[in-house]
Amino acid sequence: MSTFEHFATNAIHVGQSPDQWKSMSMIPQISLSTTFKQHAPGDNNGYEYTRGGNPTRKVFEKCVASLEGAKHALAFSSGLGATTSIVHLLKSGDHIVSVNDVYGGTNRYFQKVCGKFGVTATFVDTSDLKNIEAAIQPNTRMMWLESPTNPTLKVTDLEGASKIAHAHKDIIVVVDNTFASSYFQRPLSLGADIVMHSVTKYMNGHTDVLMGVAVTNSDEINEKLFFLQFAMGIVPSPFDCYLANRGVKTLAIRMKQHQANAFAVAKFLESSPYVEKVLYPGLPSHPQHEIAKKQMKGFSGMVTFYAKGDAKTAARFFKNIKIFTLAESLGGYESLAELPSLMTHASVPEKQRAELGITDTLIRLSVGIEETEDLVADLEQALAAAQVEN
Ligand SMILES: *Cc1c(COP(=O)(O)O)cnc(C)c1O
Repeated sequence: MSTFEHFATNAIHVGQSPDQWKSMSMIPQISLSTTFKQHAPGDNNGYEYTRGGNPTRKVFEKCVASLEGAKHALAFSSGLGATTSIVHLLKSGDHIVSVNDVYGGTNRYFQKVCGKFGVTATFVDTSDLKNIEAAIQPNTRMMWLESPTNPTLKVTDLEGASKIAHAHKDIIVVVDNTFASSYFQRPLSLGADIVMHSVTKYMNGHTDVLMGVAVTNSDEINEKLFFLQFAMGIVPSPFDCYLANRGVKTLAIRMKQHQANAFAVAKFLESSPYVEKVLYPGLPSHPQHEIAKKQMKGFSGMVTFYAKGDAKTAARFFKNIKIFTLAESLGGYESLAELPSLMTHASVPEKQRAELGITDTLIRLSVGIEETEDLVADLEQALAAAQVEN
């Protein structure tokens, strides 16, 4: 497939050629049809039944593959749907080494579902590569990484971790690239075998589609995942594919603005007397700032901080925010704030939450692309108001 020199050009043109439609339509068509006419039995134009392949889905998959610098991409009905399908590359008795600070839903899937089918997981702090080596067992077949992580924005040396995995036989390295987006990080170029995204977040960017994607350069892995996509049926609707394909067109400019705003917010928070500590990989104070700088093109739009005070202070902060909205999720154009301990990470066992530092005052921000000054001013007034007991 032909691609272009730069990211933004690929996002706008790869997979989108008007020549693929009889009408020469500039914008990809939404193919809602569930079945496709055959010339003769078994002789078709590449599509039979929409679970196995759909023209609108194909457009999006080709585009995303180019954004990760990959040969193949497959879309799923959600990020967790992509995760489930990827884990089904394994069989009963296999073991996963996972980053401990993994997305809450992935944690729940590994702990509460996979075990029933004989696939086990060990959770370790992968920001220290020594922990990875120590967690590998003879039956380890997958390494599940996320970087930066959610919500504490820890960074793992993806190249180093991939090297450790590949020194062993048959360990597939998967990187959940949701927080960085393809724009800021390309894990396949660092040695990962599969990249997955919750497209729901930055890739679509408009908070109106639930979708996932799995990307790889391996023909063998792609063939197996393609089979699983069809055989398990965790596929997105053509309408959602149309929206996500449209959303990804502006990924480059959105990510630049997310990052600019996140930097301003992180710097402001670091200077605030009401803030204990700020976690943002772009700040020199971040423990893995150097490795983040090395493997990422930018630091994305997620900022996490510990507010001074207690759970009540945090509650008052949420009551007073005006532009930031108290809601789960992330990666949309609008700014969101949430309390992981009671919201996104409530499904993480309490003991593990404590180990990860997910406390009552840990606040996660998805910094949107509104005007920078307005966002900083909103946080400033909400933090000040949170000091006043009522
Ligand atoms: C949201 C999210 C997921 C799950 O994706 P869904 O689209 O909600 O199923 C996985 N990983 C990360 C990092 C996420 O933020």
